[in-house]
Amino acid sequence: MSLLRHTALQIKEKIISREIQATKLVGQVFEWIKYIEPKIQAFITLNEKGALEKAAEIDKKIENRQKVGLLAGIPIAVKDNICTKSLNTTCASKILQNFIPPYDAFVVNRLKEEDAIIIGKTNLDEFAMGSSTENSGYKITRNPWNQNCVPGGSSGGSAAAVAANFAFLALGSDTGGSVRQPAALCGVVGVKPTYGRVSRYGLIAFGSSLDQIGTFTRDVKDAALLLHAIAGYDSYDSTSTQVSVPEYSDGIEGGTGGLRIGIPKEYFAEGLNTEVRDAVKSALKIYERLGAKFVELSLPHTEYAVAVYYIIANAEASSNLARYDGVKYGYRTGESRGIIDMYCRTRSEGFGNEVKRRIMLGNYALSSGYYDAYYLKASKVRTLIKSDFDAAFEKVDCIICPTSPVPAFKIGERANNPLEMYLSDIYTIPANLAGIPGISIPCGFSKAGLPIGMQILTRHFEEKKMLQIAYAFERETDFHLKKPVLKGSTV
Ligand code: GLN
Repeated sequence: MSLLRHTALQIKEKIISREIQATKLVGQVFEWIKYIEPKIQAFITLNEKGALEKAAEIDKKIENRQKVGLLAGIPIAVKDNICTKSLNTTCASKILQNFIPPYDAFVVNRLKEEDAIIIGKTNLDEFAMGSSTENSGYKITRNPWNQNCVPGGSSGGSAAAVAANFAFLALGSDTGGSVRQPAALCGVVGVKPTYGRVSRYGLIAFGSSLDQIGTFTRDVKDAALLLHAIAGYDSYDSTSTQVSVPEYSDGIEGGTGGLRIGIPKEYFAEGLNTEVRDAVKSALKIYERLGAKFVELSLPHTEYAVAVYYIIANAEASSNLARYDGVKYGYRTGESRGIIDMYCRTRSEGFGNEVKRRIMLGNYALSSGYYDAYYLKASKVRTLIKSDFDAAFEKVDCIICPTSPVPAFKIGERANNPLEMYLSDIYTIPANLAGIPGISIPCGFSKAGLPIGMQILTRHFEEKKMLQIAYAFERETDFHLKKPVLKGSTV
């Protein structure tokens, strides 16, 4: 098996035992990226020089028998809305085209401390607004399983990088599904932790009460490893929590005997693709065989989730994006007549259409006279959505449902229909509104050979249990072992 197909844990083992050198591995990674990336377009910036330097540092440490970090020598990709010191961070927006952060995000700092090797910054929908990565201001990322299809979004570049064997691990951000949905569409494992579990310091803000950094990996054990490395309290993020971080890998093989699984009827209703439904239903049979019990549930406010999300997320975005004014950093228009004209031109030229649409919707929802009818009302319904989950978790240990209502769709198919695009997140948005953790794991393939993902949700801070439940399924199946067939580009 090619080295690049290993899991992060396997590759770390080989590096630590000196079976391979980190520098050799990084060389192979970039060779593969140069060959295949023209077809996939997962990255905005590659960090070959920085990666080779870090790899040499790790090789030296190992040679000298010095202590190495949890992620020693593992090549990782980072979504381009997470700040990396001295390395461009564009948020896939023209408005941040030449932005080089003077600091590292908390999570990037953790990666460096744990000796991971950052190989590049991945493509996304501009400011993480989208579900297909088609809204990037730079390029469209393609799904490694079928290059006419989207990889999902907004963290499409990170999902594609892991699926295409460019990176063993990747980081993304999930405001309404942007880790779990692309993970499902690219056939990899995606985790959105509890709100507050991972510091948002250095994550470029979209919807601050919803944003959470998450992980992309090839399997569940790698997810436990990466989450352990990035979770924990950070005084620089006022919403970060002091809850201690458990050892996520410990007891991951614990099994699921006696597990009560909630099946919410609203998540299996109209609009769900039949192949996705069948794959998730078959997956449930495996849990049944493992001794789990099912409880039919209702989460009655689910139908309002998408509407509530698009009021709250856009309201927060309109405020967060006010800082891009051409003064402090980023793009500034060439010519203007006075300061107001400069702001207008800078923002008109710097932002793409989807971002503009959201700023306008958000400002509208927050404007006096409409605040009560939209933002305040949405905040109240958000509480009801959270209460639905609280009530459900009185009866069950976890909830299982599809991650996305459809497998990967064709590039361009939904690009001109924002409403249809927004509905891609119907099953992922409620977890962000409630702040609970969620994981998407591969659970099947469509007839056309596209991956299908299944979502597992648990109570706040129960990531450990969530990973254990996910692993119990993964151990019984081989969906996560399948790889897309990628041939070199002729370009
Ligand atoms: N697709 C959703 C949106 O467009 C979620 C994005 C995200 O999670 N960043 O807002």
